[in-house]
Amino acid sequence: MAGSLYKKRFDGRTVNEVRPMKASVGVVPSADGSATFETGGTKAMAVVRGPRTLHPQHMQNARTGILRVSYGMMPFSVWDRIRPGPSRRSEEISKVCEWALDAVIDLSGFPNTVVDVFIQIPKADAGTRVAGLNAAALALAHAGIPMKEMLSAIAVGKADKTLLVDVDKAEEDFHDGEGATDVPLAFTSRKKDISLLQLDGKISPSELSEAIEMGRKACEDVLKVQMDALKGATGEKNG
Ligand code: UDP
Repeated sequence: MAGSLYKKRFDGRTVNEVRPMKASVGVVPSADGSATFETGGTKAMAVVRGPRTLHPQHMQNARTGILRVSYGMMPFSVWDRIRPGPSRRSEEISKVCEWALDAVIDLSGFPNTVVDVFIQIPKADAGTRVAGLNAAALALAHAGIPMKEMLSAIAVGKADKTLLVDVDKAEEDFHDGEGATDVPLAFTSRKKDISLLQLDGKISPSELSEAIEMGRKACEDVLKVQMDALKGATGEKNG
């Protein structure tokens, strides 16, 4: 933090510290799989439906099932009302979440089908796409969808020159010096492959490498919360 205009985190956390996290599965009994994942003031809910026959038929793949992800923020999830319905942002987030989850699931045993994952955000205080991914991976596991590995995600940010794990909205809005940068990341649980890496802001190559390493470490905390939730206990960290 030396030389940075952001020296002490607004909420008192160390730079490597995640917000209090909590997860549970089976939150929507009528779904094939469901889960919630919370980090600080951000909460994501994910529901899985499928595998079920994909319509229209010309979209079917005879070799494998396909994954379809839909992300949305609830109108009351932030102080200003969010306009319901699709937006450029929700389309982008749905697609990157689909690609990230595609890396860990195996739908080859379900040709011509679709697995739908619905991610909804009831509370947003930054990091909603990564919280959504954590909930979605849990919901897929809860639905019994074959998975090669688990998936855990975190947003690493930068306020002026300081790298920070699990940034909140106040940190995302930091304007002084170099301002704020956001790097949402997702890692597979065993191979530790990166299945999501986005960048909003400015970062040097060495800072990006450091941010990825911080994210990889923080995802160990996320994974533990997810695994506890799958084992039946409510997964919690710093709660
Ligand atoms: N946000 C908002 N209105 C919007 C979109 C986002 O207030 O229409 C807030 C919300 O708190 C969100 C944060 O801005 O978590 C950061 O949004 P971003 O697009 O960076 O995605 P996220 O960090 O949530 O994955």
